Amino acid sequence: MISVGIIGGGIGGLCLAQGLVRAGIDVHVFERDEHVTAREQGYRLHIDPHGSAALHECLPEPLWNAFTATAGDPGTGGFGFLDERLATMCLVEDEVFRGGLTDPARGHHAASRITLRRILLAGLGERVRFGAESTGFERLADGRVRADFADGGGAEFDLLVGADGAKSRLRRQLLPGAERVAAGAMGIGGKLPLEGRDWLPDRLTGGLNVVMPPRDFLFTAVFKRRRTTEEARALLSDDVTAAGLDADELFGGLEQQDYLMWAFVLPAGAADTEAGGAELRDLVLRRAAGWDERLQRILAESRPETINAFGFQASTRPRPWSTGNVTLLGDAIHSMPPTGGVGANTALRDAANLCRALTDAAAGTRPLIDAVADYERQMLAYGFEAVDVSMSRARQATAGRLARTGARGFMRLCGTVPPLRRAVFKSSWTDAETARPQAA
Ligand SMILES: Cc1cc2nc3c(=O)[nH]c(=O)nc-3n(C[C@H](O)[C@H](O)[C@H](O)COP(=O)(O)OP(=O)(O)OC[C@H]3O[C@@H](n4cnc5c(N)ncnc54)[C@H](O)[C@@H]3O)c2cc1C
Repeated sequence: MISVGIIGGGIGGLCLAQGLVRAGIDVHVFERDEHVTAREQGYRLHIDPHGSAALHECLPEPLWNAFTATAGDPGTGGFGFLDERLATMCLVEDEVFRGGLTDPARGHHAASRITLRRILLAGLGERVRFGAESTGFERLADGRVRADFADGGGAEFDLLVGADGAKSRLRRQLLPGAERVAAGAMGIGGKLPLEGRDWLPDRLTGGLNVVMPPRDFLFTAVFKRRRTTEEARALLSDDVTAAGLDADELFGGLEQQDYLMWAFVLPAGAADTEAGGAELRDLVLRRAAGWDERLQRILAESRPETINAFGFQASTRPRPWSTGNVTLLGDAIHSMPPTGGVGANTALRDAANLCRALTDAAAGTRPLIDAVADYERQMLAYGFEAVDVSMSRARQATAGRLARTGARGFMRLCGTVPPLRRAVFKSSWTDAETARPQAA
């Protein structure tokens, strides 16, 4: 029997824990937050075919059903590239965006970060310890590894997984040379509830959009649930209870509101990341002067407490290391700016791949360290590819006026030449063929 310790109860760590429990592997998660609601905020997450396949593979069926029921559809209106007057420069049709795939396990979902975390925690019970801040690890003579915690305690495992996010302590100890660099861009994001906002243009409520003015960049997406919490509860609570899960706990903490999420991308240093929401809102409104008045209204009517600024950073490729009994997943190894919308999806993909590797090792089909080495080899390849794509999008979003003029011209060309549009966009979003269906 293999025992696995996971540092970090975020998206990747919890998905791995769910998969390992499903596979009958002994697992414990250590999360620094004091309790589950310590950071109950956050934006909509776009879950792509890789993220969907991983969730489908790792979650027990009632939780997967709860995920698809409580998530939203990203919209059937495809992906729009608009100018600042809301004129469409290029519309990537839904069939290109989704690649014609209708299976939810290989599809796109708009998920609430709050709801997703609740679902990922469901049923893990005492396997997750809150208020457990990892301070490092020590390899033991018997081949095991001990995780140390700030409260002076420790716990021993066959494998320790650092899923402790972009500022990972485990990465600093395991790979002291692995650095993160500034991405040259930053983001300011906010939320506008959809209720009572009939003036929002259909284009903005019906799909994903990027507004590309002569400078800056605005991403918009809606979180519109397929079912309200009450509907999801009525539909699923029997299955949830039958699976031994607590329906009150699961459905009690879900996101209750539909909203439009916006993210303004601007050059690094253009705003103070510590500034309050009202100050950030004023700043984006100044930068959006002259834009369509509905875009300005979205910014103006977003409540300051929903508005935050983020500096963008990215991991650099680490030098090769020899695989041992400590490994990393998600942002802990390959953090990236959110401009690609794939950080969480890549963390989920890691979780499913590592889970599969550990399931093989637990079944005795290969040694644990070989299985982890295979996981690391693949993870580094697709993980840093995702970092590169996200970095290049961050650069495009903050490019100078000349480059932006060229990009706008190219978008208009893609808008009028369908074969070019399909060639340019198909591979970026419909990579579903490589997203694995549920393991047998
Ligand atoms: C504004 C914004 C929008 C985004 N949108 C998207 C999107 O649409 N799609 C997408 O795929 N990605 C998106 N991302 C990226 C995504 O949020 C991250 O890539 C993802 O959360 C990484 O998951 P993770 O499990 O690796 O780390 P995290 O989710 O950050 O989890 C790490 C966990 O470790 C815990 N921890 C940290 N240190 C310790 C310690 N010492 N001891 C114990 N616990 C510790 C933390 O408290 C946390 O719970 C977005 C990011 C931002 C900022």
